[in-house]
Amino acid sequence: MRAVSNLISSLSHSCIDFLFPSACPICGEPVSTHGELCADCWASFNWIGNPKCVKCGYPFPASIDLGDRPLCPTCASGGCVLDLIRAACVYDDVSRSAVLPFKHTGRIKYAKFMSRAMMWALRDVDIRPDIVMPVPLAWRRLCHRGYNQATLLARPIAKAMNAVMDVDSVHRKYRPDMGHKNAKQRAENIRGAFKVVHPNKIRGKKILLVDDVMTTGATFAELHRVLTKAGASAVYGVVFCRVMRAI
Ligand SMILES: [Zn+2]
Ligand SMILES: [Zn+2]
Repeated sequence: MRAVSNLISSLSHSCIDFLFPSACPICGEPVSTHGELCADCWASFNWIGNPKCVKCGYPFPASIDLGDRPLCPTCASGGCVLDLIRAACVYDDVSRSAVLPFKHTGRIKYAKFMSRAMMWALRDVDIRPDIVMPVPLAWRRLCHRGYNQATLLARPIAKAMNAVMDVDSVHRKYRPDMGHKNAKQRAENIRGAFKVVHPNKIRGKKILLVDDVMTTGATFAELHRVLTKAGASAVYGVVFCRVMRAI
């Protein structure tokens, strides 16, 4: 019975591939795997490799030899509260031109390559989260946008990591956009924005937060504060891209 259903499934996929050949979600060039980028588009992103900070993933110039476990100045001085952060790529013109339509104009077909890149960014770390949690959106924004882009990224990551997807344990209050605020203003703006409404699901759990962009890290830090207060045993973060600031 399973063989029959597998056959039907593979036939239907073949039909879909025949009717709708796989195309790069960014430029439309033919690709072999649905949802993946063509080689040129893939090469246009500034993917973060090594060397990087072992804690927050901040990339260092390749020419610098910092030993096996390099730490950036922020992490060395205790400035990063999360247990670990990883980003797939740097926020630049290329990643911005993918993230903005993904977030604001319904380009949800980007979720596949973005989430795969985020899993790639986590490939060299030994974390086993119990829970994968997309950074919550305020209801007002969710109603306006129709979807939470972080949820689209988190779902395949939770599946790959065999972790529970949690979209309802934390609520977020609406706050005005943080667009051009500096690090201090962003931290003040986000303070008190999250509320853990199901602490029983959080207590003793290792949680991986998922978002599309990390700007100053203020959102992750505030979530870390409320989740730790609710008893989370570890809080990690992964994003598609991070804004690079001098450290
Ligand atoms: Zn392409
Ligand atoms: Zn660091």
